[in-house]
Amino acid sequence: MEPFSLPPALQLSPSAITRLEQNLQVVREKMIAACQQAGRDPQSVTLVGVTKYGGPELAAGLWQLGVHDLAESRPQQLWQRAQELAALPDLRWHFVGHLQRNKADKTLAWSHLIQSGDSLRLLKALQESAPAGKKQKVLLEVNISGDEAKHGFRGEELFAALPELVSLDRLEICGLMGMAGLTADAVQTRQQFETLRLLRDQLQAQAADSMQLRELSMGMSEDFEAAILEGATLIRVGSALFEGLL
Ligand SMILES: *Cc1c(COP(=O)(O)O)cnc(C)c1O
Repeated sequence: MEPFSLPPALQLSPSAITRLEQNLQVVREKMIAACQQAGRDPQSVTLVGVTKYGGPELAAGLWQLGVHDLAESRPQQLWQRAQELAALPDLRWHFVGHLQRNKADKTLAWSHLIQSGDSLRLLKALQESAPAGKKQKVLLEVNISGDEAKHGFRGEELFAALPELVSLDRLEICGLMGMAGLTADAVQTRQQFETLRLLRDQLQAQAADSMQLRELSMGMSEDFEAAILEGATLIRVGSALFEGLL
């Protein structure tokens, strides 16, 4: 088989690809150091490149460098990106932003994992949009910062919703997602990540076996190392990868 080569419109300049590679190297080294500190296998953490800031060629560049999990936070941009890059083998799109129910359909069609399942109403809409036989992977987004402006379930709410969540048979609810508060310092950030992990453990203890909450998506450019120390399996990194490129 011919190796896949990027169409010219999606190719970065040699200097840009070098810079992207350096940024990626820095992030990867920090990931490995955090895993070592936590006594974790580096393979247990997936880097998800959040491409919302840059053009499609930066997303394609990340793919070329081996980052095959990419994320967008706006539905339309996800649809557009996913179509532009549809020829790239082995590329998985994650959706990480707030999703209106009327966009559930199309977003689901392009998403490997919808990380931002932030309300029962949205999850029911996803259940209705999912074609028969499909198991759409989703995470439950939890508002761990207590910030009123943020989307997401409150912890207590999830326990009450559990029976209904388990009944959504076209969804594979595979974990939790959370974001530290904007004003949180390093100690508070780490506590918020710990809260998410403990919540996952408690929910798993109450959930039916049909729900396996394996994934913990937490940590962004500024705080992914703390997230790895608290058990993140997915980190969502944007700006740290694109330094010097935007
Ligand atoms: C933008 C975004 C990120 C990435 O943030 P950076 O600080 O740029 O790494 C992660 N998660 C979500 C939900 C986002 O919207």
